[in-house]
Formats: sequence, structure tokens, C-alpha cells
Amino acid sequence: MEIIPGRRSTLLERSGTLKFFYECSECGCTFEIQPELMVCPACSSKQQPDEPLRGVLEVRLEGSIAADFDIVDLLPVEKKFFPPIPVGNTPLWTPINLRKRTGFENLFIKDDSLNPTGSLKDRASYLVAAFAVREGISDVVVASTGNAASSMAGIGAAAALRIKIFIPVSAPRAKRVQSLQYGARVVLVDGNYDMAYEQSMAYTREHGGLSRNTAYNPLTIEGKKTAALEIYKQLGRAPDYVFIPTGDGVILGGVYKGFRDLLDAGLIEGMPMLFAVQAAGSCAILTAFRQGGFDPAYRSQTVADSIAVDIPKNGYYALKYLRMYDGQCSVVEDEEILEAQKLLASTTGLFAEPAASAALAGFLSAKDSIRKDSTVVLLVTGSGLKDVQAAMKAVVDEQDGESG
Ligand SMILES: *Cc1c(COP(=O)(O)O)cnc(C)c1O
Repeated sequence: MEIIPGRRSTLLERSGTLKFFYECSECGCTFEIQPELMVCPACSSKQQPDEPLRGVLEVRLEGSIAADFDIVDLLPVEKKFFPPIPVGNTPLWTPINLRKRTGFENLFIKDDSLNPTGSLKDRASYLVAAFAVREGISDVVVASTGNAASSMAGIGAAAALRIKIFIPVSAPRAKRVQSLQYGARVVLVDGNYDMAYEQSMAYTREHGGLSRNTAYNPLTIEGKKTAALEIYKQLGRAPDYVFIPTGDGVILGGVYKGFRDLLDAGLIEGMPMLFAVQAAGSCAILTAFRQGGFDPAYRSQTVADSIAVDIPKNGYYALKYLRMYDGQCSVVEDEEILEAQKLLASTTGLFAEPAASAALAGFLSAKDSIRKDSTVVLLVTGSGLKDVQAAMKAVVDEQDGESG
């Protein structure tokens, strides 16, 4: 079995020192990176209540990047500020049985369920925590469907930060328990994620603290780009396709950003085709991509809680990249997600949460339009142990002889 190891220590040639700054993804204005600045002041002043965030800032790099770059050097916080916990460097590996079953001989899994708190969110929390430490900030506040919260709680614990989280009462129990174990202060919101988000914003306005809200804090996008940088390093090239479970569109945006850094540096020749995979009951980005706008009244409903979003916070940024690089959106039913979850677990040994399994479901629904010799990466974003109740649906139903 071919395994491309993730956790290896490398003695690589260092890139020259890079300069980092923020650029507004809407108007192109540039700013110094500073904790008080989250969104572009001019563009965010046009913010309407029920639309994606306006004026999302993007970290830009200036300077040259060596072919053997060290990933941490491509991040806007110096290595010494990162907490002592092994985030990222997750394995990219070969699911032999899935390759045989699908006929795709260059299919890979990027297993981000192996991050310390069990999801890809750790990549964002890691950079945000390092930034807080560098800036002397002790309090971090986040709203979440569950994973961003448990992630910030865990990575925050490693960084000795105080973490306050806002999650819906309906969040899977394991994610709540994780957050409590890590010592975060948890506020249960009697409503959905979008309401938790509003409450957390009101809290930071009143009490201060660094917000780690996804997309709103630009470092959440930047932190997630490391998934793309690792895929590039592990393959030794860019893949042809990456399937990405998508809710708010921050992972999607972050993966685009990572490959864009590589494109700008001349290290890859083209942008891989990214597939934003959404649940049929939570597909605001896909709808906007095909029809041009976000519906303020849209209400999401899916078994895949981590991608259940009414108004995708990073919607405008995600759309911009999907259009700029001819990305694709695909939509999968809850039933397909649960089937993919079972298929992934039973053919590869990887037990992923429903949202993470959407990557495989999306690939299965799109594979007939893809050349079989393409290099395809499924980004598996979170562990199945985070939501055992959802996972029981497929197995119990099968025993009962029922479908769905
Ligand atoms: C957050 C999350 C996603 C979706 O990421 P967005 O940035 O909201 O699109 C997918 N899978 C898992 C497991 C997640 O925790």
C-alpha cells in the first residue's frame, strides 16, 4: 500500500522572508494585518443583515517562495508563536479498495479527521491562536455549528487562551463535550448557527476578545490554506480535482487560497478544479453560483450539521474563486451522504462525520464526468466519532431493512 507520510520532519531550505498584508476581496484595498481589523471598513459598511459577509479580507504575500518552502513560513505569524500541539501534516493516502471500486487509479484521501480535535477546523484555530499569542490577546470568542468551537477550545487550551463559544443546542453532543473538556466557556444558543453567530458578535462588541468567527476573521481562511499546501507537497504537484464539503465556504476559499499562493509563486502551472460539495438541504453557494444571488430567506436542513448553513458567511469570496478558476458545485442528498459515510468506513477504515463524507458522495455523483486517470483528492474534514447519532442512521436503517 502506498502511503505518503504526513508527519515527517524536514530540513528544508527556507524561503526568503515574506511580507504579509490584507487585501479586500471586494475592492482590492490593502491594509496592515492587525487584530482590530476583521473586514474592509468601506465594503462592510454596505453589509445587509441576511447576506454573506461583505469586505472579507484576504492575506496576501509579497516576496519569493522557494520550491522547498516550509509551510509555516507561508503563514503571517512567526513559527515561535504557534501552540505546542501537532496540527496539520495529516496523511494523504491511497484508498486501494475505493480505487478498485471506482476505477480511479489516482484517487487519494486527505484525512483531516486526524487533526488533534478531529477536524480540519484546527488549521484555522492554530493560526488564530498563534496570532492571539503574538498580539498578547488572552480571550478568543467563536460561534460554530460545533467543530470550530471544539477546535478553538482544544487548540486554545494548548495555547493557554481563554475560549468562549456559542453553539446551537442542537449541536452534536460530542462536539459540546469536547469543548467542555478543553475548558471552554460554552453558551448554548436556542436557535441555529446563524443565531449563535449573531450572539457571539454581540458579545465581542460588548466584552472584547478576538473573534475567530469563520470568514470574519481573515486568518480562518488563511489557516485552512495549509491543507492545499500539504497536498501539493505530498503529491509533489497539484492534483487535478479536489472534492471539498462546503457550508460557509471557508475551507473552499482556504484551499483556493493555498493553491493560489503556489500559482503566484510559479510553483504550479494551473489551478486544480475544486468541487464544492453541498448537501441538497444546504446549498446556498451552489444556488448562487448557478442563479447569481443569495436568498435571504433560505433555510438549511441536512443530516450533515457541519455544512448546514442558511447564509454562507464566505459566500461572496467562495463565488469569486469558483468563477475565477472555473470551479464546480455539486449537490448530494442526505441519503447519499449517509451511504458514502458507510462506504468510506467499510472500504477504507476511515470513519468520517456526515459532512466529511459528503466529499466522497460528491465524487461519486460527479465521477462519470471525470477522466479516470485524473488525480483526485477527497478532503475528509472531520471524524465520525463527532456525531455518532447521525452515523447510527445508516446502520440501524439497514438492519431494519429500511431505506433512507
Ligand atoms: C466546517 C466544516 C465543513 C465546512 O466548512 P465551511 O468552511 O463551512 O464550508 C465541512 N466539514 C467539516 C467536518 C467541518 O467541520
